[in-house]
Amino acid sequence: MNPQIMFQNVAEVFGRLEETSANTEMVGILGDFFSDLTPEQGRKVAYLLRGEVTPDYEGPEFGLASKLVIRSLAFGKNRSQEEIEQMFNEHGDLGTVARMLAENKEQGELTLDDVFSELTEIAFAEGEGSQERKISLLSDLVSRATPQEAKYIVRVVLGTLRLGVGDMTFLQGLSTALTGDKKHKKILEHGFNVLPDIGAITEQAMREGVESLANEEPVSGVPVRVMLAGRLKEIGRVFEHIDNPVHVEYKYDGERVQAHLLPDGGVKLFSRRHEDITSQFPDLVTDLKDSFHGDQAIVEGEIVAIDPETGDLQPFQKLMQRRRKYNIEEYIDKIPVKAFLFDMLAFNGESFLQKPLRYRKTVLEERFPENKGVKPAKYITTHDLGEVESFFAEAADWGAEGVIVKDVESPYQAGSRGYNWLKFKRDYRTELGDTFDVVVIGAIYGTGRRTGTYGSLLVATYDPNEEKYYSLTKVGAGFTDEGLGNLPERLNADKIDQKPGNVVTKMKPDVWFYPNQVIEIEGAELTVSPTHTSAQELLDEEGGLALRFPRFLRWREDKRADQATTPQEVYNLYR
Ligand code: ATP
Repeated sequence: MNPQIMFQNVAEVFGRLEETSANTEMVGILGDFFSDLTPEQGRKVAYLLRGEVTPDYEGPEFGLASKLVIRSLAFGKNRSQEEIEQMFNEHGDLGTVARMLAENKEQGELTLDDVFSELTEIAFAEGEGSQERKISLLSDLVSRATPQEAKYIVRVVLGTLRLGVGDMTFLQGLSTALTGDKKHKKILEHGFNVLPDIGAITEQAMREGVESLANEEPVSGVPVRVMLAGRLKEIGRVFEHIDNPVHVEYKYDGERVQAHLLPDGGVKLFSRRHEDITSQFPDLVTDLKDSFHGDQAIVEGEIVAIDPETGDLQPFQKLMQRRRKYNIEEYIDKIPVKAFLFDMLAFNGESFLQKPLRYRKTVLEERFPENKGVKPAKYITTHDLGEVESFFAEAADWGAEGVIVKDVESPYQAGSRGYNWLKFKRDYRTELGDTFDVVVIGAIYGTGRRTGTYGSLLVATYDPNEEKYYSLTKVGAGFTDEGLGNLPERLNADKIDQKPGNVVTKMKPDVWFYPNQVIEIEGAELTVSPTHTSAQELLDEEGGLALRFPRFLRWREDKRADQATTPQEVYNLYR
């Protein structure tokens, strides 16, 4: 173990990771590297590999716009801003510009600790004078960096590191480093699902051993990765998947929330992407506190917008208007909300993850009396198919999106989508059964009326096992003129000059994007195609699945790219 490790070594590892798209090779590189690190160094490198210095739910984003980085480079390198801008225009990436400007030196002078602590300071600097502080810290770093170091430091602060190392690949590498075998990733993954702080998990595994993560418990204030529902194609087949009685519950069309009632009496609300959304719902915070008076807990529910006149539930789009930085108070009255609670993950410091659902529900109901903003999700308990079907009909009539059927004996499986929860929606009765949440990976320039913007987007499914994106279709229909016009502005921050290593497709769009933004689309039919690649490993024929006649429905800002529809789900629909 090295008491001190140079950042140069970290940058070299980044370079090797960037060059490969093969997961096995990445696992090998990470396995070798992490076996020489101390737990503390492991924590820092684990964050840096994702371009972060803290877990994502803690918030601070570097948020350094290109302009600030240009000023830092000009300042640190004694060049004019115009000169840097010109180089930026030529190369399209400030990381490359920083690399070109840096002095070639044999030996780097920056340690991992130097870089990590200065980056942390940049991330956390706020308030008056913080911009200048960020610029001066960054210019100091780049002026001392080797070319390769400068490239990666700049990409980290811009949020464009994009090494293509998925979380599961990382955990396999860590497992290899600590046990000589990637198979213990399962235990690490369990720990990461319950405590999704990659740095903390890494440090704990390195200090206390991989096994120590087998019994990880939820921590107050740290979002647990949510449990998800599988799709049920026919409601009549529920009991083919579940042997036990079930809860059949309304599926509300809103935003999932995980509420943490903290030991100090405070409340934190997290979205399913682990963003801290507490400040957007002060009304809900008050109602939760009021309902739960003083106990500590982690509970989940769906936040839904309510029509202030009629009290009717409003669609998801309405709720998104509550996602705002300003005028929050004004919108509390304009768009009031309710949270329909459906699960409890911990209570007064005790983990409920392994408790059966029926137990979790009982405590939830006993402890959370309903009030203006907090209600229990509506459900029945049954083992009878007829009752399941008529409750679905009732839910659909009432305006719910459908139902979620849940095995009453099942534990809360953090981070997994399985058969213990099954969703059945009203639109499943339409032709293709469901919409797709797909990731934008490329675009084709528009012609005619669409000149100057993109005419269509190349989109992909995400395979969480391979940690790769597989193209599914090209979508150009369904956008409004305004929506089309805004596409470059919306997408260009993710532009990248070649096909990213984690994308698999035979299509050649005009522009590539690093997989980041998710859209929901619908389509008429799934067919086998020679150029698209979704589910290609599952088919007997050559080629992958493609969605025909796709239409854009909406942006899914609430989803991260790695929460998109999977090739397996598309395959199941095709079957
Ligand atoms: P969809 O596009 O169908 O909402 P999704 O991919 O966003 O799907 P799924 O796991 O497939 O997420 O569907 C479950 C989602 O439905 C949950 O994440 C939650 O936000 C929402 N939901 C609404 N009502 C309930 C409920 N009673 N129990 C669990 N989840 C519910």
